[in-house]
Amino acid sequence: MTAFAPLIDPFARPIQYLRVSVTDRCDFRCTYCMSEHMTFLPKKELLSLEELDRMCSAFIGLGVEKLRITGGEPLVRKGIMTFFEAMSRHLESGALRELTLTTNGSQLVKYSNDLASLGVKRINVSLDTLDEAKFAEITRWGRLPQVLRGIDAAKEAGLRVKINVVAIKGFNEDELFNIVDWCAREDHDLTFIEVMPMGEMGEETRLDQYWPLKDLRATLAERFTLTELSENTGGPARYVRLEETGQKIGFITPLTHNFCESCNRVRLTCTGELFMCLGQEDNADLRAPLRASESDDLLIAAIREAITHKPKGHDFDYSRQKVKGQMTRHMSHTGG
Ligand code: SAM
Repeated sequence: MTAFAPLIDPFARPIQYLRVSVTDRCDFRCTYCMSEHMTFLPKKELLSLEELDRMCSAFIGLGVEKLRITGGEPLVRKGIMTFFEAMSRHLESGALRELTLTTNGSQLVKYSNDLASLGVKRINVSLDTLDEAKFAEITRWGRLPQVLRGIDAAKEAGLRVKINVVAIKGFNEDELFNIVDWCAREDHDLTFIEVMPMGEMGEETRLDQYWPLKDLRATLAERFTLTELSENTGGPARYVRLEETGQKIGFITPLTHNFCESCNRVRLTCTGELFMCLGQEDNADLRAPLRASESDDLLIAAIREAITHKPKGHDFDYSRQKVKGQMTRHMSHTGG
């Protein structure tokens, strides 16, 4: 039950999924995502934890049932458990069906028990390689053993783990079966993500790194029988089952637009900009109406107005990488 008429966009899609970036900061510097020397936003630009609570609660009041917390690295935001605690009240009331997060795993030893006790059931952990040296190379500042300990801690706390792997040609191509086998042994779900045009790298490197997921699928099919699953989460993931192991494997191809017609999601940056579509830059400032008044009336009106601009679909493609910095800005604040 929502307190207000639920959010429905101009194409009759109900908006039920909000992805929220709670910080632009990260303790890793993945080469395809950030430059090594990032300038982060001044603190006053960021929504405070209380403001994030107000913002998310407003969306939940308008029918959002699933909240995914991301960043930057969400678990490096100071006091972040206060925010999870605030959101857990919506799980208890039944207004929110799922509270989840996407993390690099570095802080999971510290936070897994708290997350589980606050009602988080599933988490996504980004992990592109199981090779220690390659992990240090791609994340620049990350260390694999710390992340693996974090994943173990998450499992012990009862969290279901999905591993997100960015498919990078010439980097983790040779680890495909290794990663699939490891996930089977550890009972983790697994999703591959097609690399997107962002981060700090030259155009040539980028095109060299592009490993289309259809090629990855074809390689998987050399060893496994793949059954297409009809499951649709409203997002860009498509799933198959590996008949030999029973594993469910996801494929996220953000560069295609075969998921737009069922898109039920919007993204909020840590500065309060609402992006209506993954592949388009159109956004609405929700921070100003939030800060303008203690009541939520202006905020709710601004959310409704923004949703009327949600586009039917996107035309995101590799030619966009020529617009230097554009996707970097969008993605690093919205959390991939
Ligand atoms: N720090 C958290 C993490 O590591 O999961 C959340 C933010 S991170 C930006 C979210 C996801 O975006 C990660 O799975 C990351 O690998 C992915 N990502 C970042 N840059 C990408 C790119 N250029 N192409 C595809 N995925 C990317």
